[in-house]
Amino acid sequence: HQTTKQPPLPSPLRFSKFFQSNMRILVTGGAGFIGSHLVDRLMENEKNEVIVADNFFTGCKDNLKKWIGHPRFELIRHDVTETLLIEVDQIYHLACPASPIFYKYNPVKTIKTNVIGTLNMLGLAKRVGARILLTSTSEVYGDPLIHPQPETYWGNVNPIGVRSCYDEGKRVAETLMFDYHRQHGLEIRIARIFNTYGPRMNIDDGRVVSNFIAQALRGESLTVQSPGTQTRSFCYVSDLVDGLIRLMEGPNTGPINLGNPGEFTMTELAETVKELINPNVEIKMVENTPDDPRQRKPDITKAKELLGWEPKVKLRDGLPLMEADFRLRLGVDKNS
Ligand code: NAD
Ligand code: UDP
Ligand code: UDP
Repeated sequence: HQTTKQPPLPSPLRFSKFFQSNMRILVTGGAGFIGSHLVDRLMENEKNEVIVADNFFTGCKDNLKKWIGHPRFELIRHDVTETLLIEVDQIYHLACPASPIFYKYNPVKTIKTNVIGTLNMLGLAKRVGARILLTSTSEVYGDPLIHPQPETYWGNVNPIGVRSCYDEGKRVAETLMFDYHRQHGLEIRIARIFNTYGPRMNIDDGRVVSNFIAQALRGESLTVQSPGTQTRSFCYVSDLVDGLIRLMEGPNTGPINLGNPGEFTMTELAETVKELINPNVEIKMVENTPDDPRQRKPDITKAKELLGWEPKVKLRDGLPLMEADFRLRLGVDKNS
């Protein structure tokens, strides 16, 4: 009678070494637009294990469907305003609605997400010794009086307006990041993201690029909010994700602006979408919302110098990529 020889169990030392070579990364808000693209990129590296924590307020499982069931991937339904006890090496903290109609829908929840949510992720980072990156926003500059905006500009923000839950919330989140860094020695990274667009944006989330593309595909008028001369700078999502990973992996805390310096008025954007997607639609002027910033363009000198990063995808090249995704989701094919 012969016994089958079992391979020896790994010693605790070898076992821990095996896991040490893997990087366990938490992405909060990973089921959202930017988060899901970041997860795609992180999962390409076989040494990464990715955990997503998301409450699915504006994100959805569909954005992550190709990873569900993958041995290096885990999805947790979790609200960051609640304590989270897990073990990770890095935290990309994105959880927060980004579109004005969603963040204004429940402003108290938005500010709780920014403040309590960030506090909790910092508490987690402190307990496990993880490096943490916050996705802050160009909204911290408010309606800027300096143009383009460098990171040294302190901003012009209305503390009691309808956008304050978001922009003041992010300002407090940045403060918390720096206080944990100074007081507890945490390794922090802060990205100030400017308007980003691309596939998987919510079709009806009210942001300008998604609105115009959906309107053009549905044959509806493009709604330019008055006066139409206000400007934004639009970064394609793959460029942005590249910048986030460079920031996380490098030695600089930031804050660092990540955005595309190409600046367009909303009327110019509407004209470009019309020309590229549907020349038959009209452009109509509609009423704007309060406190809408009149101009916005990143100064990306710091990102270029410190991260060796600058965007590669021009608006005219990125819009068709987003159009293709919207056509699929709206069921509008090219010849209809
Ligand atoms: P998004 O709305 O698509 O994604 C946000 C994700 O966070 C969603 O999956 C949502 O369900 C989740 N979420 C919201 N509240 C949560 C909570 N309390 N607990 C757990 N999960 C929660 O937005 P996005 O465009 O992908 O933005 C991601 C991040 O980037 C946000 O922090 C946003 O402030 C920042 N940002 C985005 C832009 C942009 O142009 N898209 C610009 C500046 C900053
Ligand atoms: N926290 C968390 N996960 C952890 C550790 C802390 O969510 O692994 C939360 C915790 O609920 C607390 C917050 O992070 O409210 C801040 O934690 P910290 O330890 O910095 O502060 P304290 O608990 O001492 O107030
Ligand atoms: N905007 C527009 N038409 C729309 C939606 C938005 O003209 O259908 C304008 C809006 O007034 C703002 C700009 O586009 O000046 C960007 O708005 P968005 O909500 O996309 O982002 P944010 O204001 O956060 O930069």
